[in-house]
Amino acid sequence: MAPQKTVGILGGGQLGRMLTHPAALLGIPLLILDSGDYTPAKQTLLPPEEHLSSGHLDGPFTSEKHIRELAKKCDILTVEIEHVNADVLESVEKEGLCQVQPSPSTIRLIQDKYEQKKYLNDKGIPVAPFKELSSLNPTENDVKDIVKELGLPIMLKAKTLAYDGRGNSPLQSIESEDIKKSLDFLGDRPLYAEGWCPFIKEVAVMVVRNKEGQVKSYDAVETIHRESILRVCLAPLRGDNVLGLNQKARKLAEDAVSHLQGAGIFGVEMFLMEDGSLLLNEIAPRPHNSGHHTIEACLTSQFENHLRAILSLPLGSTELIVPSAAMINILGSNGSMEPIEKMRDNALTVPGAKVHLYGKKESRKGRKMGHITITANSDNELSEKLRTILSAQPDAAE
Ligand code: ATP
Ligand code: MG
Ligand code: MG
Repeated sequence: MAPQKTVGILGGGQLGRMLTHPAALLGIPLLILDSGDYTPAKQTLLPPEEHLSSGHLDGPFTSEKHIRELAKKCDILTVEIEHVNADVLESVEKEGLCQVQPSPSTIRLIQDKYEQKKYLNDKGIPVAPFKELSSLNPTENDVKDIVKELGLPIMLKAKTLAYDGRGNSPLQSIESEDIKKSLDFLGDRPLYAEGWCPFIKEVAVMVVRNKEGQVKSYDAVETIHRESILRVCLAPLRGDNVLGLNQKARKLAEDAVSHLQGAGIFGVEMFLMEDGSLLLNEIAPRPHNSGHHTIEACLTSQFENHLRAILSLPLGSTELIVPSAAMINILGSNGSMEPIEKMRDNALTVPGAKVHLYGKKESRKGRKMGHITITANSDNELSEKLRTILSAQPDAAE
């Protein structure tokens, strides 16, 4: 057997943590780079020592010095977050220090949501109308000009460093006060605007591709967001003509990913419009929150398939193995861990509910602290279980 290749991961959050589980089962040595003592992934790995093949390095995943140190110890680098230093990854790869998957060019493109949208639009992938706010410090009039073109409401978005809706600000009017509130919220990041998509639901598809070009997608899921944060994900899709929609969503997701370089798993978010058309929202070049249910509900999890893809191992079946599944995010609320523990304890009374807590020490509003996956024999049974679990959610009354 060829010596096992060591995988380095930039980022030690919950996605990194969930990559450590299949890596352990498959005997894949992992090294994780992140700073801080308590990041979720670090809790599952010891610091590296001579006799240990897996572990973690302490340092920022944006630091050239630390990325190079990691690269020297690994055969393949990958990411669990796209906000990394793509330039350094590119030079590490060019110098032959280490392979990088997915390609640094893909990571760079996706880091900038405006560039990503422009690129996909140029490739003929349907997206919402969008427009750049060219000035770095946009004025009220800049926003008004865009509204003239895109209409109201619009979604103002930060081009970079955006996640969990923290770079999004919906704008309903062109009142000075509203524009100011939005611009203040978004701060001094470069911005663009999207026309509002009055979608009937949001769907997402995970697509995995290995270095040899083998591609597989998972069944589409319905994703339910509130204030731009994913709350619940349902698999398979519910409603009329779901078979056709599933096929269409998988095809669009596979098409979109075919325009990106490199191996690994990709999360593709889409809007389903009233006329049945799909618009692509954005792509994540890594495991994604809308694929967490694959751990319990599919033959191969998104995390295992990511590792298989970047290591040129055969991809695993993406088949859904339960009739009905849901994933519920456990979001932080007021600094106390009590509501999170209450949700966990309540979920443990529900047969088939699997709780994943990420080991984050501090609970903050909207922070992803964990998730719960429920599987069931029917959608009705799932709804019952879902109700029990959601009743213990801290913001259930809102
Ligand atoms: P993620 O955590 O998925 O990376 P993000 O911070 O990059 O999220 P987006 O995916 O751009 O943000 O948007 C988050 C959510 O906001 C979407 O899933 C959707 O519910 C809503 N949204 C985004 N863009 C639009 C739009 N143009 N029209 C209507 N709703 C939108
Ligand atoms: Mg995003
Ligand atoms: Mg998103």
